[in-house]
Amino acid sequence: MAAYPGQGFPGAGQAPGGPFPGAPYGGGGPYGYSPPGAPYGGGAGPGGPYGQPGPYGGAGPAGNAPPGVDPEAFSWFQAVDADHSGYISVKELKQALLNSNLSTFNDETCLLMINMFDKTRSGRIDVYGFSALLRFIQQWKNLFQQYDRDQSGSISFSELQQAFSQMGYNLSPQFSQLLLARYGQRSSNPSIQLDRFIQICMQLQSTTDAFREKDTGLVGNVRLSYEDFLTMVVTRMM
Ligand code: CA
Repeated sequence: MAAYPGQGFPGAGQAPGGPFPGAPYGGGGPYGYSPPGAPYGGGAGPGGPYGQPGPYGGAGPAGNAPPGVDPEAFSWFQAVDADHSGYISVKELKQALLNSNLSTFNDETCLLMINMFDKTRSGRIDVYGFSALLRFIQQWKNLFQQYDRDQSGSISFSELQQAFSQMGYNLSPQFSQLLLARYGQRSSNPSIQLDRFIQICMQLQSTTDAFREKDTGLVGNVRLSYEDFLTMVVTRMM
């Protein structure tokens, strides 16, 4: 029986007629932009995508949002683009995103997300990429809040286990423990913040995708040569 998730990722559902109907991993490229209004309870509602106090939450004058860009996303973009270059860098993005414990997002997650929406491989995103990124983060945030059952603001071991199961992953408690040990906040009861949750899910999705390409019989096992393995790792590095 295959160990692959059957559903449940932001950015899913872009691949009509793929070999894995209903699966999140088909389609062009590993991720794909998330369609607005889909499947996780809607995009940024009124009140701002982040619900945080601070300079970015206010509905300031929208200026002239480019066509197709939500005025709110545009005013965010202007605030986050600290050097007014017209682009958001990893550093600027990092300044703008907070976890529930008010820590800034870690560098790896910011870089992963910038790369995902950076169509020109310039290491930065324009207003269109940024607006798509906001929707992407909001969808992850909705999922995160759904899995954070006790509303503690972070994902505990049992919440992570449930999250994986609901996403369709068939993973052992030992694997969740490993992730908590690596990505959890150090404490007697480690738990995972939003940024690490996004990072874990994106990387799990990407590596599962790579594995599945080799697992043609969908049995959850592959025979892999050393160089096949290296190729898998290299091509999935972003
Ligand atoms: Ca929790």
